[in-house]
Amino acid sequence: MNVENKVVIVTGGSRGIGRAIVEDLASAGSHVLFTYRSSAELASQVAESTGATAVLADVTDEAACQDIIAQAEALGGLDGVVNNAGITRDGLMLRMPDADWDAVLRTNLDGTFRMCRAAASVMLRQRRGSIVNLTSISGIRGNAGQANYAASKAAVSAMSRSLAKELAKRSIRVNCVAPGFIDTDMVRSMDPRMVDGIKKAIPMRRIGRPEEIAAVVRFLLSDAASFITGQELVVDGGLSV
Ligand code: NDP
Repeated sequence: MNVENKVVIVTGGSRGIGRAIVEDLASAGSHVLFTYRSSAELASQVAESTGATAVLADVTDEAACQDIIAQAEALGGLDGVVNNAGITRDGLMLRMPDADWDAVLRTNLDGTFRMCRAAASVMLRQRRGSIVNLTSISGIRGNAGQANYAASKAAVSAMSRSLAKELAKRSIRVNCVAPGFIDTDMVRSMDPRMVDGIKKAIPMRRIGRPEEIAAVVRFLLSDAASFITGQELVVDGGLSV
């Protein structure tokens, strides 16, 4: 799982799972650039404690995506991209405003597509690279109140399998990590009674830790996963079994 001296971009590294991924990769010796959208103070704390570079970049802004890819390339090449930035706007379908549907699809799906396209243009020239997209068990099993989110994640998963087939010949791998319930702001914003119910349904009887996702992401970025592409690794304490 060696990622020393690899240049890796992580989207949404200011909090939660993205932050854990930045910390894990930086401590393993990668050169990490990470994006944030609104949490400037948290982002500068992460940059200071890890030595990673924080870049204000909204993944829905194509020019910003291309800019961060160029910054990484200038460091000597682009080894990995982790498309982690994601949002939820939960609500039952009949009450879901178009704005919530659009915002989730725009960030989770369009943002991931644009980053993949910008990264692939560099990786195809290099003939190497690993892309890891964060999906969700919601996209595999569905979840009441998450039609927008589940659709966005299922689409990222299908898109990733297609990109894996497009890019494999040039040694570029594309995989997904599908977390179950992980202890971040996203889960902390849920009704605590619902979270208690979820814990009971998880065979391991607990919510996951962001570091437990970061370790799997590092594996997929590393040469230890050199023959793995087009896969979606579920990390959920057994919930979906
Ligand atoms: P958080 O809400 O804790 O953090 C989200 C991160 O994404 C923040 O760093 C945020 O930046 C960034 N972000 C959001 N929108 C944008 C944008 N448009 N451009 C750039 N950055 C953006 O989320 P989690 O850590 O919980 O989730 C991370 C990923 O894992 C997501 O893709 C999520 O769908 C997925 N996931 C999470 C699960 C969980 O249980 N937590 C379960 C399954 C999947 P800022 O703070 O600056 O706004």
